[in-house]
Amino acid sequence: MAARILDGKAISQEIRDELKVKVSALRKKGIIPGLGVLLVGDDPASRSYVTAKERACQETGIFSREIHLPETATQQEILDVVKMFNDTPEINGILVQLPLPDSKMERSVIEAIRPDKDVDGFHPVNVGLAALGLPAYIPCTPRGVQEILKRSGIKTDGARVAIVGRSNIVGRPLMGLLSSKSEMGNATVTLCHTHTKNIGEVTKQADIIIAAAGRPDTITADMVKEGAVVIDVGVNRIKDATKKSGFRLVGDVDFSAVSQKAAAITPVPGGVGPMTITMLLSNTVDAAELHHNAGMK
Ligand code: NAP
Repeated sequence: MAARILDGKAISQEIRDELKVKVSALRKKGIIPGLGVLLVGDDPASRSYVTAKERACQETGIFSREIHLPETATQQEILDVVKMFNDTPEINGILVQLPLPDSKMERSVIEAIRPDKDVDGFHPVNVGLAALGLPAYIPCTPRGVQEILKRSGIKTDGARVAIVGRSNIVGRPLMGLLSSKSEMGNATVTLCHTHTKNIGEVTKQADIIIAAAGRPDTITADMVKEGAVVIDVGVNRIKDATKKSGFRLVGDVDFSAVSQKAAAITPVPGGVGPMTITMLLSNTVDAAELHHNAGMK
C-alpha cells in the first residue's frame, strides 16, 4: 500500500499562520521580532536560502535586516557585523548563512553570536543547554523534523529510531531531541554514519528512519521494514536535462520504492525543507519574547 505523504509544506503553513497571529499580538504590545541576516559571498544556493528566509519573515510580520559582505570579507569584517547585530536591540535573532566562503572562520563566527540571539542553535552554550535538557534554541532542521512527527500524530515514545548522518546541525541534535525525556522524545535512537557496519540491519529494526546523509538512495526499500515512518532530510541536486535549470532535487531516500513499503514518508522537495525556515521564524519570535520578558536589549 502506498505510504501516507507527510506534507511539510502544509504543516509549515499551519505553523506560520499560528506565528502570524502571535506576531500580530506582540506588535500590538510594541514588540516587533527582528532577525539580522548575514550573507557572505554570492553562492546561488545560499542567496536563495536567504531570500526565502527573508520573504518568510515578511509574510509573518518579522522585521529582517540583511547585511551582504563580499566573498573576500575578512574574519574581522564578519565579526564586526555580528557584533553590530549583537548590540542592536531591534535584532532578536542572528542568522549567519552557512557555509561561509572560508569554512575555517565558521567556529569563531558562531561563537561570537550572543547565545540569547543564536536562533540557529549552533552556539556551544545552546548545544550544551540542549544536551542537558535545559531551555535552549534548538537547531531548526531537527526541530522541524520533530514538529512534522508531532503534528502528524506519530508517537516517538518507545519507538526505535535510526538516524543516518551524524552532523552537528542535523543528526546529532536530532538524536538528543528524540531520546530526551519528553513527550516527543523517549525514543531509543541509533545514530549511523559511514563507519556503521551494515546500516540496513539497523534501519530494518527501526519504527522511524531519518535520512540525513546528503547522498541519493542512501535508504532503499530493502532497508525499511513494512509500516515504518521515513523522514528524508537530504537535499541533493542531480542532473536532469528535462528541467530548465538542468537539475532536480532529490532526497536521500529512494522515494518511489520506499513509499510502497513505509506507512508514512516525507517528500523532497516539500517535506523537511519548508519546516527548517518555519522553525527559524519560531525561534526568532521566541527570542523577541525572551528579550522583552527579561527586559534585555
Ligand atoms: P554533512 O555535514 O555532510 O553530514 C553527513 C553525514 O552523513 C555524516 O555524518 C556522514 O558520516 C553521513 N553519511 C554520508 N554518507 C553516508 C552513507 N553512505 N552512509 C551512512 N552515513 C553517511 O551533512 P548535513 O549538513 O547534516 O546534511 C545532510 C543532508 O541534509 C544534506 O543533503 C543537506 O543538504 C540536507 N539538509 C537539509 C536541510 C533542510 O532544511 N531540508 C537542512 C540541513 C541539511 P561521517 O560523519 O562518517 O562522514
